[in-house]
Amino acid sequence: MGAALSADVDAPTEPRYFESIETAPSTRGGVPWGSRLLIARGAEVETPLLHAKSDPSKITIVFGTVDRDVTHQGCMRSRWLVVLLALFTTAAFAAGEGRQVAITIDDLPRGGDGGPYDLTGVRPMTTKLLRPFREQHIPVIGFVNAGRTKLDPQGLQEILNLWLDAGAELGNHSYSHADINNVSLDVYTADIVRGEAAIRQALAPRAKTLEFYRHPYLHTGATQEIKKGLQGFLDQRGYRVAPITLDNSDYAFAVAYLQSELRARVRREYVPYMESVVEFFEQRSVEVFGREIPQVLLIHANEMNADLMPELLAMFRGRGYRFVTLSAALADPAYGAPEEYAGHAGSSWLHRWSKTKGMAPKNELDPAKWVMDAFAAGRRAGALPPSSP
Ligand SMILES: [Zn+2]
Repeated sequence: MGAALSADVDAPTEPRYFESIETAPSTRGGVPWGSRLLIARGAEVETPLLHAKSDPSKITIVFGTVDRDVTHQGCMRSRWLVVLLALFTTAAFAAGEGRQVAITIDDLPRGGDGGPYDLTGVRPMTTKLLRPFREQHIPVIGFVNAGRTKLDPQGLQEILNLWLDAGAELGNHSYSHADINNVSLDVYTADIVRGEAAIRQALAPRAKTLEFYRHPYLHTGATQEIKKGLQGFLDQRGYRVAPITLDNSDYAFAVAYLQSELRARVRREYVPYMESVVEFFEQRSVEVFGREIPQVLLIHANEMNADLMPELLAMFRGRGYRFVTLSAALADPAYGAPEEYAGHAGSSWLHRWSKTKGMAPKNELDPAKWVMDAFAAGRRAGALPPSSP
């Protein structure tokens, strides 16, 4: 073992992610001073090991074990072995040239997690969800389904104003969450237009305009003809499409989260799952573009993301990300790459670009079976957002 790992924190009683935990001086040979560490309990490593790669362009993962014997800060009170996952970049990150991610949140006012859809349910969920963005000035954009709610028009405005007060941008996600795979182009585009009024009503007093459109289900047209027709409509209407790269199944975890017997497990497994997704698309970006492009994350407005957002954000920071606006991410030339996928699937733009380039497909992992089973059970029990007439 090259050096002891230690950290000035209590051993967590539950798996938690922390940010900005400094490594002790004794580790400076192996881990840069001030590295951000993610700490999770639940795995034991018999022999502490410290492993640092020298490639300055890569994230390096350091595994080590910490218990009372190797922690000289005196704060590791328990005998629990703690696995430290230190994710850090070297000089490039220190100089501020780290990874970038834009956070986008869909299905406002509330996605289909089965929680309460009235104002007394949506308001506290929204306030909690937005707190880290508001307090830390993290850019975020919310995509609205103005007709998929139990809120009356005034209640919807109140919720949209919570978003705007937090510094968020708002985009259109269609009125009813329409699926271009299931309805005609005329019906679909009318649904886009119908969704605009409530969003514009919220934006206007702040002199903001409606700029982005996010396709429900990430469906962009099953044929080239439909896809071109829809894109032509969006162009003519003045929309910019909001692509995503970090595709995932947060919505399935969110339904499981509201099943009380599964909540603790979701708390343990959601952020590590999301990290595995992020890692997959980091690698896929290198395969498709030869480098890591600014990523765009898709998640949904729900109770789970409200509760676990600080840990999700810490995970990104731990991997060297800084948070940027959607516009800033899309300014990267990669987002101008040809994207010619037409079909029924909704997927990451990294998959679309790779397919357009003729690359062999490679897909991210689905969540564990217990998550998908809980999702299916929750949906059967009615965990779907209501639809306004
Ligand atoms: Zn959606």
